[in-house]
Amino acid sequence: MTRILVPLLTPDRLRPLHRCNLRFSLSLMFLLALFSFPGWSQSLVIRNVTVIDATGHAAEPNMSVEIEDGRIVAVTPSKTARTPKNATIVNGAGKFLIPGLWDMHVHGASDSRAPWSHLLFVGNGVVGVRDMSGPPDAHAWRATQASNPDPSPTIYLGSPIVDGPDPTWPESIVAADEAQGRAVVDQQQQHGADFVKVYSGLPRNVYFAIADEAKKRGIPFEGHVPEVVSAAEASRAGQKSIEHLTLVAEGCSKEEKTMAAERQRLEALFRSPDADMPKKIAAGQNIIRLNFHVVETFDDATAQSLFAQFLKNGTWQTPTLTLLQAQIDSPLDTNDSRSKFLSKEVRAKWDAGYYSHFPPPARAAMVQLAKAEFDESKKIVGLMYQAGVPILAGTDTMNPHCLPGFGIHDELALLVEAGLSPLAALQAATRNAAQFVGQLDSRGTIEVGKTADLVLLDKDPLADIHNTVSIQAVVLKGKLFQRAALDAMLAKAQTLANREDAAASER
Ligand SMILES: [Zn+2]
Repeated sequence: MTRILVPLLTPDRLRPLHRCNLRFSLSLMFLLALFSFPGWSQSLVIRNVTVIDATGHAAEPNMSVEIEDGRIVAVTPSKTARTPKNATIVNGAGKFLIPGLWDMHVHGASDSRAPWSHLLFVGNGVVGVRDMSGPPDAHAWRATQASNPDPSPTIYLGSPIVDGPDPTWPESIVAADEAQGRAVVDQQQQHGADFVKVYSGLPRNVYFAIADEAKKRGIPFEGHVPEVVSAAEASRAGQKSIEHLTLVAEGCSKEEKTMAAERQRLEALFRSPDADMPKKIAAGQNIIRLNFHVVETFDDATAQSLFAQFLKNGTWQTPTLTLLQAQIDSPLDTNDSRSKFLSKEVRAKWDAGYYSHFPPPARAAMVQLAKAEFDESKKIVGLMYQAGVPILAGTDTMNPHCLPGFGIHDELALLVEAGLSPLAALQAATRNAAQFVGQLDSRGTIEVGKTADLVLLDKDPLADIHNTVSIQAVVLKGKLFQRAALDAMLAKAQTLANREDAAASER
């Protein structure tokens, strides 16, 4: 899909949710310390639990999982399991153990919105995230992060957004020509970014220069398919992941080529400083019509040949169905208990939604289009899953109605709605995520030798994927957080959001 009228990312970075240097309430710190005790060095055993290890094996009931120094050292039937002296024992009877979750498309994990966002992630069982708009210097950011006392997810950290000469977001790195494209790849690799984030406005030649340089340097590039490149071309160029199905629906249409030419003409018109307002409005309406036409001209054989390309080239897909659903723009229910974790400022921005800057008729058209594209996207995700295209679970959190931590559970449910089995959806947020970031040997499944990142659930997620929210405990690198500790974490996130409100009223 391509939504040129509506940027896919809110620049919340412009108005940080809260400032750093917040002094934390002593009582909360005490609570956290109390409930998270005992810590690292001691061994931990979760007994009599049903293990869903995410390797693809069936669930195994009555298992005992032993953890020592942050690693899983044994997964054995409870009957024969040993219990080390002084081990903390968690009774897992009637409960379900899954690997910790990864949200593979987030914003706000590596800027001033942390530690608020980190508390919401970990408090909801998210042990790892892929940050899609990283800081200018990843090494420098990691150095500051090292002194953060709060629990944090592992962060696979992108470069800042790399966009063309007319960037959507002001904090983007602009690559206007091939030399600048190559230079940004080199610079970001030196600064320690895990990948280069490519964006919609990159010119063709600059995009392919970035692809070439990234390949030479051995750093992945991931992100949007630029407007002037097709999804198949991006796949062939080696783009490691495609976000939000950008231009994937176009690639599933027999009319992709003619529509691409028409789209570029309309966009140029829409953006042209010379065009008067009636011309711009007409171009905008035609772009909306074109997007409907993309949905109408879906062709199964064309789609299958695109999916075959993805498979052959190892191109991952992060559909971010949470975002695509949010763009239908039903505002967060104010009764939604989750809205209390947002500062008033963020909530106001979210309530304004995606289309507040459009006149009402255009707004209605955008909502209609978003509905059609959401349904189309679910269909495409289901077909890609059947075709074996590797899929990641990502939310695009910090866009309106995509909540840090809570959002990943929404995404898992939407992936199942799209046709993934509950196990496949879980794997999209666990095993697949670890494989994608190159850590499958140490993360992503419940197996001996792996880092102990785990979520203990009250209810069976394979019976109903919505049960992933029934979190009883989270184990983060071997450290146990029981329900009370998780509640304290969420309460602290709420306090930070409220404190931002207080700071705003003082300004
Ligand atoms: Zn994003």
